[in-house]
Amino acid sequence: MPTQLGKERPLRVAIVGSGPSGFYAAEPLLSSSVNVQVDMFDRLPAPYGLVRYGVAPDHPKIKNVIKIYEKIAAHPNFSFMGNVCVGDDISVHELRKYYDAIVIATGAETDRKLGINGENLLNCYTATEFVAWYNGHPDFQNRHFDLNHEVAVIVGQGNVAMDVARILSKTVDELKETDITRHALEILSQSRIKEVHMFGRRGPAQAAFTPVEIREFAELADCDPVIDLQELQLNEASQAELADPANAPKKKNYEILQELAKIGDRGKKRKFFLHFYRSPLEILGAGKVERVNFEKNRLVGDPGKQKSIGTGVREEFKCGIFFRSVGYRGIPLKGLPFHDQAGVIPNIGGRVSDAEHIFMGLYAVGWIKRGPTGIIGTNKPDSEETIKNLLEDVDKLLPCQIPDTNVLLEYLREKEIKVISFTDWKKIDAAELERGKKYGKPREKYITVEGMLTAL
Ligand code: NAP
Repeated sequence: MPTQLGKERPLRVAIVGSGPSGFYAAEPLLSSSVNVQVDMFDRLPAPYGLVRYGVAPDHPKIKNVIKIYEKIAAHPNFSFMGNVCVGDDISVHELRKYYDAIVIATGAETDRKLGINGENLLNCYTATEFVAWYNGHPDFQNRHFDLNHEVAVIVGQGNVAMDVARILSKTVDELKETDITRHALEILSQSRIKEVHMFGRRGPAQAAFTPVEIREFAELADCDPVIDLQELQLNEASQAELADPANAPKKKNYEILQELAKIGDRGKKRKFFLHFYRSPLEILGAGKVERVNFEKNRLVGDPGKQKSIGTGVREEFKCGIFFRSVGYRGIPLKGLPFHDQAGVIPNIGGRVSDAEHIFMGLYAVGWIKRGPTGIIGTNKPDSEETIKNLLEDVDKLLPCQIPDTNVLLEYLREKEIKVISFTDWKKIDAAELERGKKYGKPREKYITVEGMLTAL
């Protein structure tokens, strides 16, 4: 008789990744009628993924979801296994010896390229690495951002681009009481940037940012928004898009853009320029960024499906720093299929699959399942869909050979891997909160893995 998982012994599930999608996968597992043990792995000692290392430091309310994750982590059948890199310290194949099912929640760890000449020049950065750097991600602390220039260009008009533009446009006083790292604050305090220019390839009706984010630019302490009213004129298809009630946030964006365009020059030290209908063709400079060649675009297509196409009209734009911000991108995990074009693990409703078959016992959630779209809350229904399918599969899963986390812990100890439990993390967390008090900040993060381990 095969082992009845969840009845004779707990169903053993490993979740790889401790960001929002990982926690939203743990929640329905732990509240299901099946007896289940959930072990959540993260390559860093600190949990929460992009909530800790992606959400902007000046948007602390968004981080309140951590309270929900802490409640999930307090469940007696939940363990955090931080500082363990699945794919490196232990392969997915090895992990299967200890778990009946594995849920991949690794998100999108890199970013999309523009694929134009000059992307490798000095001072050409990615928004994602800048965000990870100022948020204290240990992998990005060796990055050097040269803010000793007056003009910065950002390509892309999503919320990540907005975060980067805001951090570059704010004063130190506006940031010093956030959990931005002290090192980043020090570099930003020496910034010579006077102009931040954000370029979108399509128009104001298609911009990917959300109303809350764009509205903030009316209220920055020492920065004026600048928008050319001419560029706010809409073609018929864009007007139809905004008339569609399903596009209410885009309509709100458009109204806010019109208000921002009327603000005019209030004599602030910095200016934030929004440009539309332009695509970068190449980034130029002798060794480092000096200018960008843009092509002016026009929109073609039906409402909701408009694409930008070049008009042949070119413009050269002088700048000293360039950020691309055209979306995150997932990376493959050894031993699992990968859809290279989409940057996701191919799956059907979260069940990992390739063209021929479903990989029974392997699941995906979040950005590595659906691509890098949506806000934190979008991950809840996404993870629930996967876990519903996992729970439907329970009777078909092949029971693992070693259903014992302690044996796995012993194996990792032999490999000299210091596994961080949730109790350990809470000690690091307390130490960070304490360090923050000294500087009047909510927390001062440890920016190296060694720093976190030493704090223990
Ligand atoms: P995003 O929302 O997908 O925006 C990507 C931007 O890049 C779009 O403006 C897109 O324009 C543009 N783009 C793509 N390819 C391009 C190209 N080849 N040339 C020029 N422009 C190009 O991505 P994101 O900003 O990285 O954000 C990822 C997700 O996280 C989003 O769902 C976002 O809302 C979310 N997020 C939310 C918050 C928040 O709630 N505060 C903060 C940060 C991130 P097209 O529209 O023309 O494709």
